[in-house]
Amino acid sequence: MTEHVRLPVVDERGKGSLRTDGSRVSIVPADVKGRFATARKVAFAVLIGVYAVMPFVRIHGHPALLLDIAHRQFFLFGQTFNAQDTWLVFFLLTGVGFTLVVAAAVIGRVWCGWACPQTVFLDGVFRRIERWIEGPRNTHLRRDAGPMSFDKLWRKLLKHSIFLVLAVLLSHLLLAYFVTLPGVLTFVKGPPAEHLEAFIWTTAFTVILYLDFAWFREQLCLIICPYGRLQAVLSDTDTITIGYDAKRGEPRGKASDKDAGACVDCGRCVVVCPSGIDIRNGQQLDCTGCTACVDACDEVMTQLSRPVGLVRHDSLNGLLGRAKRILRPRLYLYAALLVAGIVAASIAVASHQPFEANMLRLRGMPYLLATSPAGVATIRNDLEIHLVNKQNDPRTFTLRPVSPAGVAMDYALRSRSITLPSLAEQRVPLFVTLPESAYRRHLLVQVDVTMEGEFPETQHAHAPFIGPH
Ligand code: SF4
Ligand code: SF4
Repeated sequence: MTEHVRLPVVDERGKGSLRTDGSRVSIVPADVKGRFATARKVAFAVLIGVYAVMPFVRIHGHPALLLDIAHRQFFLFGQTFNAQDTWLVFFLLTGVGFTLVVAAAVIGRVWCGWACPQTVFLDGVFRRIERWIEGPRNTHLRRDAGPMSFDKLWRKLLKHSIFLVLAVLLSHLLLAYFVTLPGVLTFVKGPPAEHLEAFIWTTAFTVILYLDFAWFREQLCLIICPYGRLQAVLSDTDTITIGYDAKRGEPRGKASDKDAGACVDCGRCVVVCPSGIDIRNGQQLDCTGCTACVDACDEVMTQLSRPVGLVRHDSLNGLLGRAKRILRPRLYLYAALLVAGIVAASIAVASHQPFEANMLRLRGMPYLLATSPAGVATIRNDLEIHLVNKQNDPRTFTLRPVSPAGVAMDYALRSRSITLPSLAEQRVPLFVTLPESAYRRHLLVQVDVTMEGEFPETQHAHAPFIGPH
C-alpha cells in the first residue's frame, strides 16, 4: 500500500492535488448527479460534436475553419485571409481576451468549468471512460491501494490503451484544422517518411494529449494555464463564483444536532471535486467552477429536506449577507475595453480588402534616361503591380492606366486582364516611359485595378514617377 494512494482518501481529502512538498495527490472524483451535471453533459456533447464536425464543414468550397500555416492561408467561416492579414489576429486575440476578462469579472470561471477543451475532453470523455473501466471512486481507490493483480492489470492496460487511441484520434483531428481533412487522410495513407513534418507534429501532439489526459489533468489548470491565476486579479467580492454559505452551514454537525448549522460534514462536496479541494475553506485558485460540489450538496440537502443552495453560485458579498452589486467600476472599465476592442475589430475586419493591388518599384536604378528612335529624350520607371486574390474563388482583374495621361505603359502581359485562382498572387511588371520634356516633380503613376464580378471592386495602385530633378 503506497502513501501516494492512501493519503487522499483519509488525510489529504480537500487539500488540493499538490502537497506542500510539491508531490502529487491522485484525485479520483466521486459520481455526482444533479441539474448542473446534466447541463454540463449536454454542453460537453455539443462542444465535442462541434470540434469533431468542424473539419467536415465547408463554406464556399473551403473548410469552415482552416489555419493553413504552411501556405499562409486562413479560412474563417467563409472569410479568406492570407499572411498580409496577420495583423487582424491581434484584434481577434484581444477581443477574445477582453470577453474572457468581462466574463471572469461577472461570473468567475464559467469558461474553465464549462467550455475549455481541457475540461470538455477530460470530464466529458476521459474521466467517463475511466469511471466505466475502474468503477466508482471507492472501488477505484481501493484497487489502486492494493497489490498488483490480474484484475488491476487488465483494467489499467485497457484504460491506457483507449486513452492512447483517443489521443491519436484527437491529434489527427487537431491536424485537420491545419492541413484539411483530405490532407490528413493523405498523410495517414502514405508512409511517414513522405510527410515527416506532419508525422512529427502528430506524434508530439499524441504524446502531449495522452500525458495530459491520462496523468497531468487538473495540474494543467493549476500550474500552466494563466487564466486561472488571473482570476485573483479580475474578480472581486461581487464576482459570482461557487461558494459555501458559512453563515448557514457553520458550525458543522450531525443532522440530529439542533445547535449545528446546515452542513452535516458529510464530505460529499469534497469527494466529488475534480481538483481535490474543500470549497468550505473559501475561494481557492484550484476551483474551476465545475459545479460538482453544488450538485453534491443540493442532493444532500434534498435528502435531509433542507433548502438547497448551501453551496451555490454567489458572490462573496452574497454569501456574507451583504448587499450585492452587479454593476461596479471595474466592470465599467472592462466593458469599455471590450467595446473598444469590438469597435476596433469591426473596423479592422470591415477594412479587410477583397484583393490587394500594390504598385512597387523594381530593383535597380530608380529611373533610366534614354533617347527614343525619333530622337526624343525619355525617362523610364520600372515598376510592378503586386496582385493578390483574397477571395474564395478564381477572379479576373482588369488593369486600366490612369496617369500620367497619354503616356506609354507597357505591361508584361498579353492582355490587361488577368485571372487568378483563390489566394493566388502575381507580379505584373510595368514599364512607364515619359518624354523628358513632360516630366515634372510629384508626378504620379496610377493604374486602376478592377476585380470583375457581380459587384466589381476597384483599387487605385499608384507610385511616384521618379526623374532626374
Ligand atoms: S466547483 Fe466545487 S467541485 Fe468544482 S472545482 Fe470548484 S470546489 Fe471543486
Ligand atoms: S456536501 Fe454540503 S453538507 Fe456535505 S459537507 Fe459539503 S457543504 Fe456540508
